Amino acid sequence: MAQEASRISDLLRTADVEWLLALQGGRVLSLHLDTDPTRPENQRSEPAYRIWARRALQEIGDGLPKEDRRRLAEWAERVEARLRGERPRGRGLSVYAADGLWKEFVWPVPVDNRARYGLVDVWPLVWLRQTYVPYAVLLVHRDHTRLLVTHLGEAAVVEDEEFHLDTQHWRFTAGKPPSFAKGMGMSSSRGAQRDVYESRVEDNVRRFWSGVASAAARALEELGIQRLILGGPQEGIAAVADLLPEPARRHLVAAVSVPPLEDWPHIRDRVLEVAREDRRRREAQLVEGLVGNSGPGGSVLDLESTLQALSRRQVLTVAADRDLAAKVWTCPGCEFATTRPVERCPACGQPVQEADATQVLPWLARASRAELVLLTDGTLRRHGGVGALLRFS
Ligand SMILES: [Zn+2]
Repeated sequence: MAQEASRISDLLRTADVEWLLALQGGRVLSLHLDTDPTRPENQRSEPAYRIWARRALQEIGDGLPKEDRRRLAEWAERVEARLRGERPRGRGLSVYAADGLWKEFVWPVPVDNRARYGLVDVWPLVWLRQTYVPYAVLLVHRDHTRLLVTHLGEAAVVEDEEFHLDTQHWRFTAGKPPSFAKGMGMSSSRGAQRDVYESRVEDNVRRFWSGVASAAARALEELGIQRLILGGPQEGIAAVADLLPEPARRHLVAAVSVPPLEDWPHIRDRVLEVAREDRRRREAQLVEGLVGNSGPGGSVLDLESTLQALSRRQVLTVAADRDLAAKVWTCPGCEFATTRPVERCPACGQPVQEADATQVLPWLARASRAELVLLTDGTLRRHGGVGALLRFS
């Protein structure tokens, strides 16, 4: 059980959305709490999140049939005991409870208060995963290079990890820089041989950059990172960008020109701005595709059309406003879901369940191997908050 706030990179690996979505039975408590200790309301002897959790679970229980109410009451007691114990060390706490399962995640980043019972609610995790997606920043110089993996929040770098290039093996390794030969044969610069010497140095530098490009591509693949920003003096970043093999080249987001020897904290702000711009661009492109009907099979807008397309397994990408609030009726037996109140599934005849669209969409997206992207609040509001790019029409 994680008491300490862990690193965001480890958490995002552990808080496996896929795994949670595979939880069977539709009797899951998903609780997310804003435990941020810097908030005055959380510093009182009875912190605000504890009061919120108690009330929310009570309210949900009141609307449930007897057996579920009893199950939820047990978990509510356990939550209460957990929150009365040592204060969570992070800024956010997530709890997932199901029969035989109790899972906690202590987040170093803020999380909104939210509680759901029934289908597992991974919406907040999908958002965190997307918000703190890692960017690799490759700082290129003439004789050394660093690779930084950085998790960016809305407004700040949450976490950095630094890798140094071991030129002997052309690999990036975590931790301290290895003591590789500095300067690459710059010891004898004299006389008439200068031109020959200089061209040899250029060759060496070029070879160095070529090694950097392949090592970086390999590191991205090993780290599972799909966003790369290059930083350094102009000639270095241009050369390395040119030498990058696929698919790393496709993952290149931007190149930021920085003076030699500039230190990371100074560069970081510029990288953050570039990454923010990248995020806006991706979102704008997706919205443009949705509104412009430009998926391989066109697109649909609004929740009902999206649900229908999902049940036909037509969907390539589902995009939904993070603040989507809508009820749907869903069949536990198949992938049927609708916004229109029905009692039985028209496909298989089972009684349907009422649920939040935010609980149903991730589950349906997973079933059809569609990507789920959450958009900034209100982006698709006038289209019902949801849309999908289709694989085929
Ligand atoms: Zn059905």
